[in-house]
Amino acid sequence: MSRQCARPGCPEIAVATLAYEYASRTVWLDGVAAEGHPSTYDLCPRHANTLRVPMGWQLRDRRPVRAEEVHLPGIAHAS
Ligand SMILES: [Zn+2]
Repeated sequence: MSRQCARPGCPEIAVATLAYEYASRTVWLDGVAAEGHPSTYDLCPRHANTLRVPMGWQLRDRRPVRAEEVHLPGIAHAS
């Protein structure tokens, strides 16, 4: 049960879920949600790590910080 990155043209598997709230100008990154939600976006590691928020917004990274333990089958480790 895995979902694809929400970025257009990105074929990677999502490992994080982005949520945002206009009222508090906050963006959250969490571990990928069990179910998709209309107001969230799933992101692959690359897009999650390169995420930038608009000026005046804050990013709260709440992902479990164990990136080195994430091993996706079929993806070679580039070094
Ligand atoms: Zn991506």
